[in-house]
Amino acid sequence: MSIREQIASLEELSAIDVEIRRIDELLEKQKKGLSGMQSEVKGLEDRLKADREMLVAMERTRSELMTEARQMTQQIDKSREKLGRSRNERESNAAQREVEELRKLLRDREDEVERLNNATNAARAAIEDADGKRTTIAGDLAGTAPGITTSLSELEAERAVFAENRVKVVARLPNILYRRYQSIRTRRPVAIARTTDGTCMGCHVSVPPMMFQKMRRMHEFEQCPNCLRILYYHAPDAAPASAPDPSRA
Ligand SMILES: [Zn+2]
Repeated sequence: MSIREQIASLEELSAIDVEIRRIDELLEKQKKGLSGMQSEVKGLEDRLKADREMLVAMERTRSELMTEARQMTQQIDKSREKLGRSRNERESNAAQREVEELRKLLRDREDEVERLNNATNAARAAIEDADGKRTTIAGDLAGTAPGITTSLSELEAERAVFAENRVKVVARLPNILYRRYQSIRTRRPVAIARTTDGTCMGCHVSVPPMMFQKMRRMHEFEQCPNCLRILYYHAPDAAPASAPDPSRA
């Protein structure tokens, strides 16, 4: 395989790799968008579950406190009756103390119920808010997911065609050249560069004149001393003003 043929194959390979890279970037972007929405829905669902469990626990506590408060009210009534029945000052004082202590306990329960009322109202509002958000995002997801999935499979199919062609082109290249190409590509998206006048068109730095002269004879590949891309000579394009060659039409 002549250097010229190898150059043609390298250029073909590089063009395929540019396309594959473009497709991979699109694939990644779309997958990210999809998984971002999915994880947002998941996050809201987790939060809703936790908030609903907390709400149930607060409501249970509140109803227990209300039962206690009712029992205390009954006890206060009983103690009041006792106060009415008291026969001496000692009994009367004891009953009075009992009523006061029970009233204080009742007030504590009532305060706690009030606090829980506020907390459950706030929790209900937060749940409603998160549920609304979840519904909106889940709706968006349901609307866009089929489109994204279709476009993902189209891109995968397009990529598969390029990948298949790539295998054929790689098979034409000398192994050592391909390995060099791949190793440069781990650092740079495009591993090859042309030169027409001694300047590397990859990094726009001039190569040593001796190296350029050798390249012009097209016996072997060079590597740009600056960007390390595989560098090869490309004859200047015909002047744009010249008429097209009719024999090549
Ligand atoms: Zn260069």
